[in-house]
Amino acid sequence: MLTASPRPSPVTPTIDLSAQGVQHGHLRLPYSRDDSAWGSVMIPICVIANGDGPTALLTGANHGDEYEGPAALFELARTLDPAEVSGRVIIVPALNYPAFRAGTRTSPIDKGNMNRSFPGRPDGNVTEKIADYVTRHLVPLADIVLDFHSGGKTLDFLPYAAAHELPDKAQEVRCFAAVAAFSAPYSMKMLEIDAVGMLDTTVEEMGKVFVTTELGGAGTASARSIGIARRGAGNLLKHAGILAGTPETAPTRWLDMPSADCFSFAQDDGLIAFERDLGESVRAGEVIARIYPIGKTGLAPAEYRAAMDGVLAARHVPGLIKAGDCLSVLAVLTEAP
Ligand SMILES: [Zn+2]
Repeated sequence: MLTASPRPSPVTPTIDLSAQGVQHGHLRLPYSRDDSAWGSVMIPICVIANGDGPTALLTGANHGDEYEGPAALFELARTLDPAEVSGRVIIVPALNYPAFRAGTRTSPIDKGNMNRSFPGRPDGNVTEKIADYVTRHLVPLADIVLDFHSGGKTLDFLPYAAAHELPDKAQEVRCFAAVAAFSAPYSMKMLEIDAVGMLDTTVEEMGKVFVTTELGGAGTASARSIGIARRGAGNLLKHAGILAGTPETAPTRWLDMPSADCFSFAQDDGLIAFERDLGESVRAGEVIARIYPIGKTGLAPAEYRAAMDGVLAARHVPGLIKAGDCLSVLAVLTEAP
């Protein structure tokens, strides 16, 4: 998958990624446009380094409308004392910065979905150029990568950290150990609808430890979900040996997504009325939600039934839904992997 192009990245960091101490700067990507002929996209980046040790890469707003990552990472970048660090922490709080500025999942410049654009292209659109820089210049520096996600404006999740089943079982064990250290209320063995183009896949194929999250959603972040993100990032840095001390663990419930039966997609447009809330159990055949036609009264709703036993791990938001939208995700409670 990784076809490293010899073409150099057009992205220039305004800081020296190998320097010691704290540096706040930007990844500057030239972007010529109507309101700025020789303008640039300026993606905030912070590097906090002290001596020898591993490197962690922490990223948020890979999707621009997901806020736990930016909330935790802008705070961490502001407060992390290099004297506490052994090694290096690279923080990019808002990876798809144009999307983050616009409050949208994808970039307003090119409609690029960052987490479907990896490994990226140095000669692609703005989103692909950012992805390419991350792939070829940031991930290779890292021993461990944490990429924060939540549901954005159209999904809401149980708060979980996650890793994937991997062909390299030793690497998989390292990834799930990091998920356990993150210590979210839930920990997921995650199945992707389509793993092509994801940062996850790119990092995993490079043999690194990778942790992702889904910490809530609905286009906002709560005090609780931001707290989970902050504690998780600190725990991961302790787990990696970059911060001293042991992770501040809390009970976590392990979840698995055993097959594509987890996912339910709407086949109707209308008003969605859920019969279960996040975290509640449902048995196979029971109604998860009904979609009501909204053009007139007296019409029966379409019923969406669970294809398996499980707990509701994600649901569509807001209250209206369209055919094709992801309606729900079920997961099964399990033992630690
Ligand atoms: Zn996301």
